[in-house]
Amino acid sequence: MATVIDTLKARPRHPEKANRPETPLLRKPDWLRVRAPGSAGYNETRDIVRSHGLTTVCEEAACPNIGECWTQKHATMMIMGEICTRACSFCNVITGKPNALDPTEPARVAEAVAKMGLKHVVITSVDRDDLDDGGAAHFAAVVYAIRAVAPDTTIEILTPDFLRKDGAAEIVIDSAPDVFNHNLETVPRLYLTIRPGARYYNSLRLLERVKDRDPRRFTKSGLMVGLGESKEEVMQVMDDMRSAGVDFLTIGQYLQPTRRHAAVDRFVHPDEFAAYEAIARAKGFLMVSASPLTRSSHHAGEDFAQLKAAREALEAR
Ligand code: SF4
Repeated sequence: MATVIDTLKARPRHPEKANRPETPLLRKPDWLRVRAPGSAGYNETRDIVRSHGLTTVCEEAACPNIGECWTQKHATMMIMGEICTRACSFCNVITGKPNALDPTEPARVAEAVAKMGLKHVVITSVDRDDLDDGGAAHFAAVVYAIRAVAPDTTIEILTPDFLRKDGAAEIVIDSAPDVFNHNLETVPRLYLTIRPGARYYNSLRLLERVKDRDPRRFTKSGLMVGLGESKEEVMQVMDDMRSAGVDFLTIGQYLQPTRRHAAVDRFVHPDEFAAYEAIARAKGFLMVSASPLTRSSHHAGEDFAQLKAAREALEAR
């Protein structure tokens, strides 16, 4: 009987974090409070996501913006399954041994994009260190499938780092998404605790390789703040990104998914975000989004239009 009960127990979402110390979840300040989801548009987006068997990072990452985004039919698809081979201490995505890739996924994602009538779509994925190419060919197949059925939709991809996967980044770059995004997430000093499976320089170099291979491709990267980084460290990362040619910077507040995830060091005040934005613009980013609720994919469509306009304005000078 005991065995039956054990097998019926729901698997904990983050067994890999079972031995981490628990830290209390800090009470959120007013500027981070959002309305609970539940509009007609939200329900419609949810139904399309479910009926196409899709996974979204909106749900998997417990994103605070889901009510707003889904109401506007903006969902960020997460491909290659919902199980990640990494165990970053900030991330709510499940860690474990992923399932085999589903060859029908590119067509299903493309069909959902067409059905939602998206002008701009963001596609991200879990890390797939188990695959020889890190999932690069599958990622590219999704981009090609969307292009085939929704040629007017602009495509933004938010990729893994393809660490130790020679040639993988090039496969994805050559699929020619409109925006290539890879988040540095935090400052290099915190990589060991926050992104232990990643390497800062490898991530930075990935962004640089996009520009080396295709200088017109827009690149984008993001940082979470409130993890214990200093302002000087954030500014150093901005400089590193500019050296790698990154066009668009996003900065948002880190929120702790569970008590066993990395603790929030502090809630950064909206005025500090405004200061980061001003500094980043002065450093030459074409586009900057910095606010407590900024996420890589938040308002991505509107931001893409501004990004293009900013380049055109710069080139017309
Ligand atoms: S910000 Fe991005 S991840 Fe969050 S709900 Fe919106 S689309 Fe989804």
